[in-house]
Amino acid sequence: MFRLGQRVAIAVFFLFLVSLASSRGAGNDAPPVIALKAARLFDGKSKALITNGVIIVQGDKIVDSGSNLPVPAGAQVIDLGDATLSPGFMDAHTHLTLDYSGNYNQRRLDELDLNVSEQAIKAVTFARATVEAGFTTVRDLGSRFVASREFVDIALRNSINKGVIVGPRMLVATKGIGATGGHFDPTSGFRDFLFGREPDYTDGIANGPDDVRKAVRFEVKNGADIIKAAVSGGVLSLADEVDTPQFTPAEMAALVDESHRLRKKVAVHCHGDQAGREAVEAGVDSIEHGSFLKPETLTLMKKKGTFLTPTLMATEWIMSKIANYPPALQEKARAAAAARSEMFRNAVKMGVKISFGTDAAVFPHGQNAKEFALMTRLGMAPIDALKSATSNDAELLGIGQKIGTLERGKLADIIAMHGDPTADIAATEHISLVMKEGKIIRNGPPAMQAAAKSTEATDVAAPVD
Ligand SMILES: [Zn+2]
Repeated sequence: MFRLGQRVAIAVFFLFLVSLASSRGAGNDAPPVIALKAARLFDGKSKALITNGVIIVQGDKIVDSGSNLPVPAGAQVIDLGDATLSPGFMDAHTHLTLDYSGNYNQRRLDELDLNVSEQAIKAVTFARATVEAGFTTVRDLGSRFVASREFVDIALRNSINKGVIVGPRMLVATKGIGATGGHFDPTSGFRDFLFGREPDYTDGIANGPDDVRKAVRFEVKNGADIIKAAVSGGVLSLADEVDTPQFTPAEMAALVDESHRLRKKVAVHCHGDQAGREAVEAGVDSIEHGSFLKPETLTLMKKKGTFLTPTLMATEWIMSKIANYPPALQEKARAAAAARSEMFRNAVKMGVKISFGTDAAVFPHGQNAKEFALMTRLGMAPIDALKSATSNDAELLGIGQKIGTLERGKLADIIAMHGDPTADIAATEHISLVMKEGKIIRNGPPAMQAAAKSTEATDVAAPVD
């Protein structure tokens, strides 16, 4: 028996060596080829769809893309039928670590109650819901937890990059920078010194040009890919008016100069027109929301090539659930909603560069594509809305050489949606395939739809107190 055991052991060891050698051999071979086929294809930049779309993918890259391309011998063919292939969508304004979509007061209570680790675990499901909805890249514009030092967005980004969890490629802003008492002050609305001290640059709260530079440096030191700042008041904050400027021109100049020196782009939360004009003059890369921007400010944006990220979904969601918010916030939401439709129509007419961004977290994660229908309803051509979420966002994010179009050599971030989005833009909400860097994340129904129902419970809760 002993001898037989020895023989078996030797045989097993030999088989192990053979399998090791063959797997090494396979590793040296070219990676397998996948051919994606669908009735239509949007390449991310052209004025029209093409028919009989074919994309050839090898490894993490696109080898070729076009109409009626021949399929290489031995390729795995995935025929998606009556669908449209497109570059993976991007959302230039998300908060994947947060959830503001339920009852406002409940959310504030949760923020005090919940361990930040528990919130981070929830964020894993938000990231998955987002990529499964066809959004393979996001610019994540702010992640903060009151009285916490954690950088949850950095952890989420890194875990996705390392393949520990599934989610979109993330460019993250860490905490975002704002003024004392402004939209980003995490202690606004709470009793004075409840958290023991006034927040400072380590919380993203800065006053004066030097302090703003310090905050930028601190965020970059901790891994920020992009700098976000709040230069005007906001809707979901308690101590500010929605349209007042919150940084001086000198502070904005310091913000832009310090960020650009460190090769980081600057996105600014801004509803008010004065703050918007001053931010564009200071050279920011994008204005987020922009509700009250006047035509003169939009003209300046057009001239300087500043992007507008409209986040129509955020206002839409808040207005549809207005009773979830305290009266002071309801008033601010109504004012912003009344102004933003005309602002957006003007921006489209004037040819301002428009990026696709939703403010996901204000509404449940994974519903990002509903922004497309809001954009087209306010006068944007469907093909331009599709470009905003692909090549435009890639340009704004500074990653246009790698993604955003279906071209040879680009990373294979590819999605398929049922039907024709130029005939019915709601097709963008019905994704059937998601591929990120050549790996299929989804081919068929999404796995995370149930988990992503982040807020139904808090939705129905009565206001606390
Ligand atoms: Zn936001």
